[in-house]
Amino acid sequence: MPIEFSVPVEVAQQTKLAQMAAEQVMRRLSRYFDEHEHERPIEYIQFIWPFMQQIERSYLPRPAKNGDSQPKAEDKPKKASNDNVRMIHMIEALSWGDAGIYLCTPSSALGGAAINAVGTPEQKERFLRRFTEGAPKWGAMAMTEPHAGSDTSNIQTTARLDEATHEWVLNGEKIYCTSGALATQESNGLVVVWATAGRTAGRATMKPFVVEAGTPGMTVAKKERKLGIRASDTVSLVFEDCRIPYDNILGALDAPKAGEGNGNGQDKGFKGAMKTFDSSRPWVAASAIGIARAAFEFTRDTLKKEGISMPYGVPKYKLTSVQRDLLEMEMDIQAGWLLTVRSAAYMDQGQSNSLEAAMAKAKAGLVVTRVTQKAVELLGPLGYSHEFLVEKWMRDAKINDIFEGTGQINTLIVARRILGYTRRELK
Ligand SMILES: Cc1cc2nc3c(=O)[nH]c(=O)nc-3n(C[C@H](O)[C@H](O)[C@H](O)COP(=O)(O)OP(=O)(O)OC[C@H]3O[C@@H](n4cnc5c(N)ncnc54)[C@H](O)[C@@H]3O)c2cc1C
Repeated sequence: MPIEFSVPVEVAQQTKLAQMAAEQVMRRLSRYFDEHEHERPIEYIQFIWPFMQQIERSYLPRPAKNGDSQPKAEDKPKKASNDNVRMIHMIEALSWGDAGIYLCTPSSALGGAAINAVGTPEQKERFLRRFTEGAPKWGAMAMTEPHAGSDTSNIQTTARLDEATHEWVLNGEKIYCTSGALATQESNGLVVVWATAGRTAGRATMKPFVVEAGTPGMTVAKKERKLGIRASDTVSLVFEDCRIPYDNILGALDAPKAGEGNGNGQDKGFKGAMKTFDSSRPWVAASAIGIARAAFEFTRDTLKKEGISMPYGVPKYKLTSVQRDLLEMEMDIQAGWLLTVRSAAYMDQGQSNSLEAAMAKAKAGLVVTRVTQKAVELLGPLGYSHEFLVEKWMRDAKINDIFEGTGQINTLIVARRILGYTRRELK
């Protein structure tokens, strides 16, 4: 396959729009929402919602040819597209503006990624249509629990089938759910909750369930106060006898039958979770690169005013240490970005991208933490001062090395895939 470095026209057009939002809206709001953690950036939300609705339309299954509004039972694999490459360009640009505010973007987000990864065409239509119309809405995904973070197969939240009412009954606690309050309390959104549907916890019984906003038995228990991305809504969700319809289990065909101990004995639910991460890791990597670029550009431009330029093509021994640092920052950002583009492009071409997504996420998470720290270091008091955003970018950076698989976990995935080890052999 030839390597194509040019940006497709439609991707460039949408990126321009994201850059406009970043420059004109997000940067202006950045400090305020860093200091007012649980307030909502309404101005940004209203600005971006019409564009997000357009993007969300592309996720809906095609209607049947006979004019029937029902989507086809068999959703054919999509033709190669630019959807994911377009998305990462947009996320990079928005995160350059403000990563916390970007995370407030109304969209199906991680919930949508899970629905797209494992939902049936009927479920995609039923759950994702809302993100294309009406007032702004949010989707969220709740996997992490007090005793299950990196080890997702250890989740303890249960989904029991009530055979009398043909409903699932969810019980458990989910923590650190991004956009959890926005999705479940503040809009007509939804959250995809991973729960164990058998008698014992583990990969074989893990299943994703859609819980719609306002469902009785689901409550927001705690709003987190955080180091960075403080504009982003992060909450704990508690499920107490929370009843949802039977067909809210995603990928209904894989649902365990009533009374069955271990589902169908396969780990399709767990694979679904991994498939969700394959699409969300490039998003996180793109966000990381956006923050890194913000810090790098500010540092480069500030130092330029002090007479420190970036001479390209000059032998390393002729550079000052500051110039070498700047070049390394830029090089690292480019490396992280190219990995991110590759991971998204593979998805657009319908190829497996698990390795590439983990690589991009591990690299970009590391790059953003290093670059933002270096920016603070090179700028000295200017970097440390509250007057500029560099110190904030350093705080915003770290999350990219934590959620959607920590740096260590993504490095493990890369190592397993390259060296051919199983999960059991290398953990
Ligand atoms: C702001 C924020 C938003 C979040 N949003 C969401 C969300 O929307 N939905 C959701 O489900 N979760 C979310 N999370 C949770 C996040 O995905 C987890 O924090 C993350 O997966 C790590 O899990 P943990 O915190 O339990 O850490 P642990 O798994 O306990 O890990 C602690 C440390 O040990 C390391 N470690 C663990 N296992 C290994 C291993 N096998 N080898 C080497 N090192 C290892 C980790 O890398 C880490 O450094 C969010 C978290 C934060 C902070």
